[in-house]
Amino acid sequence: MKTLSVIIPCYNEESVIETTYRRVKTVMDSLHPVSTQMIFINDGSTDKTAAILSHIAEKDRSVKVINFSRNFGHQAAVTAGIHHCSTDFAVIIDADLQDPPELIPDLLAKQEAENANVVYCVRKKRVGESKFKLWTAKKFYRALNKMSEVDFPLDTGDFRLIDARIITQFKQFKERGKYIRGLISWVGFKQTPFYYEREARVAGETKYPLRKMVSFATKALFYFSKKPLLMATGLGFTTVVIGIFMALWYFLGKIFGYTNAESGFTSIMIIVIVFGGIQLLTIGVLGQYIGILFDEVKERPEYIVKDSINLA
Ligand code: UDP
Ligand code: MG
Repeated sequence: MKTLSVIIPCYNEESVIETTYRRVKTVMDSLHPVSTQMIFINDGSTDKTAAILSHIAEKDRSVKVINFSRNFGHQAAVTAGIHHCSTDFAVIIDADLQDPPELIPDLLAKQEAENANVVYCVRKKRVGESKFKLWTAKKFYRALNKMSEVDFPLDTGDFRLIDARIITQFKQFKERGKYIRGLISWVGFKQTPFYYEREARVAGETKYPLRKMVSFATKALFYFSKKPLLMATGLGFTTVVIGIFMALWYFLGKIFGYTNAESGFTSIMIIVIVFGGIQLLTIGVLGQYIGILFDEVKERPEYIVKDSINLA
């Protein structure tokens, strides 16, 4: 008999969690003879999410709950879910029902038909999200693809089915800053797309304000690309070349008398500002990588589990 886990990260989702449980449960009951479980990761919610989840888990033993000691973030929550999962398959899904759980049987069917290790869900359409979010997401993923060493599928979130091979590989990853969709692409094996329409959030509001979106995007970029360093080098190189030509120009100008260098206040100001800016920028890029090294060498755990329910 096949076994399946559904991994659901939740952060302050009291308004949807009960509905989510019921909808996923209905789908799972229809999946006979697949043996299923749900893993809810409560990422340090400050509302009634924890209480609702423990109430559900009391009545339904197939519901596992992992409570974090505080909010560690979406990616840490999904990571914990995968770490605590040893089934043949796992589906990662958001708690807000933007990714319809009713698609899980289709994902399993697609997996079987193509003998895939990963079935990743590609959004054809996204309902109920701001123009700004859609536009930035679109531009960002395309830029990231150009910069990174791996080719990431576009318009794809963490909603996907992964098999035991991927789960095992994922558990080996030591890096703490996890960009999960990137890592799973990086693993390889057979990965197949599945097209769907992303719905609007059922209730509650986004837990990804602009600040978190930016830090998520930064992580993706700096963990998966060394191009920013190359670009910094390129920028430095270009300015040196410009500098040499300018020096030559003024030097020859002095000899042949075609410049009057003393009157060059504006040009000096421009040069000082531009070069100062380039230096700060490139130091900033270096700093990003040093910051990542700093975080990674500390080897702190990615999350801390306060307690769990129904987990062996
Ligand atoms: N989430 C989480 N920890 C966080 C932020 C979000 O576990 O710090 C969960 C959240 O409960 C949801 C999923 O991650 O299940 C995606 O978050 P959200 O729907 O707010 O993001 P959006 O769909 O707006 O990008
Ligand atoms: Mg959402």
